[in-house]
Amino acid sequence: MTLSLYDTATRQAELVKSNNGLVSIYCCGPTVYRDAHVGNLRTFLLADLVRRTLEISGNRVELVQNITDVGHMSDDYQEQDKMLAQANTEKIDPFTVARKYEASFHEDLSRLNIQPANKYPRASESISLMQDLIQKLIDRDFAYVGEDKNVYFNSRSFESYGAISGNHLDSLKPGHRFDYTEQGAKRFHADWALWKSAGERREMIWDSPWGQGFPGWHIECSAMSLSLLPTPINIHIGGIDLRFPHHENERAQSNAIIGGEAVDLWLHGEHLLFEGRKMSKSSNNVVLVQDLINKGFDPLSLRFCFLENRYRSQMDLTWDAIAAASTTLKRWRQKLIKWEINYDFYDAELIALIENDLDTPKAMQYLREIEKDDSNPNRGSIFKFADKILGLDLDRAPLLMPLSLHQQDLLAQRVDARNSKNWQESDRIRVLLEASGLEIMDSASGQTWSWR
Ligand code: AMP
Ligand code: ZN
Repeated sequence: MTLSLYDTATRQAELVKSNNGLVSIYCCGPTVYRDAHVGNLRTFLLADLVRRTLEISGNRVELVQNITDVGHMSDDYQEQDKMLAQANTEKIDPFTVARKYEASFHEDLSRLNIQPANKYPRASESISLMQDLIQKLIDRDFAYVGEDKNVYFNSRSFESYGAISGNHLDSLKPGHRFDYTEQGAKRFHADWALWKSAGERREMIWDSPWGQGFPGWHIECSAMSLSLLPTPINIHIGGIDLRFPHHENERAQSNAIIGGEAVDLWLHGEHLLFEGRKMSKSSNNVVLVQDLINKGFDPLSLRFCFLENRYRSQMDLTWDAIAAASTTLKRWRQKLIKWEINYDFYDAELIALIENDLDTPKAMQYLREIEKDDSNPNRGSIFKFADKILGLDLDRAPLLMPLSLHQQDLLAQRVDARNSKNWQESDRIRVLLEASGLEIMDSASGQTWSWR
């Protein structure tokens, strides 16, 4: 294997391992109570880049990404389940909420050319797997049933707690907010709930040996990863916020079950900011792929922006950066039409850049230099080869992106305005068309347009 990735646990780049030629990857998936924002998608793209990089060198990959549709508690809704809180807001059943946002998650992935995972297990359909794990943890004294009928993981029973995040038990103070769960009947402040008693809750609850209730968030990833992938799992992926407590707790659960390291390499993507600010609902700063489309941008401009930043650096995305990416993407597509392509071409130099801990910014810089080199006969072949990993649809003809009905309508209205010499109206409509992502050119023979 020649791909090296930065392992959060060892704090250095490590070569990726495989299980008899198969690389197993688990990526923490979305909590489906809302549309994924562009930050979430940056993390999901990370799994796609790893997968494409491995496959281009002939490796087989099995990628599992879970769908969290129960158990993820929310900070802002007074520790209510995120799904139930949203069901309450939308006045629909929580499973309907889950299926609705799960469908938009898949749509967003396809808009960004993120290849589908091999499996998308749902937490709500993996309850018995979780219960089996919890029972095993109780039998082996890693977990206990509290007086409140919650089942807790006994953090002090797991010696190497803190190996990923550096948050060892002796440094975690009581009262520190480790988890969204209540204090309840925990024996130790750092313990966390594996199973929660239903209490007053009437929806999304299941029978269990410990009474009616629902699973904690961390146990779902242990259950789904251990049941669907061979161990050790070669790469476990998530956003940096999941390093602690989610992945620390998951590691404790999974290692306790298999009696060894359940994961070879913990890979974390840094967060995305938008126009310098954290993306959050409360500050009204959440950007969706649909918002880009509404402004007339090809969603792959977003993928382009992500590729220009290393996955483990914090990134500040701006509308200006998206517009610049859109221009370059369009230019590359126009050039690729003219360049000759040898489809069997293999570019070892490009692969070496990407296999070095996914140095996509260097790979993009490399392509910009190739673009300028008029004496290079392989430009088309290199771009086409690079696109197998970059996933930018570089061979898509730039003008094939369909106009929306609204844009078609505005173009027609502008023709009328110009025919009746109503220049003020024609200028007003031009502004609207430009805001929707088009460039408008007027000449003696009439109006023409192209995507910005
Ligand atoms: P969620 O749907 O909230 O469970 O998050 C799905 C994934 O997106 C997780 O791996 C998070 O760590 C990741 N994530 C959340 N916010 C951001 C962000 N601003 N930038 C990048 N990744 C994020
Ligand atoms: Zn997870």
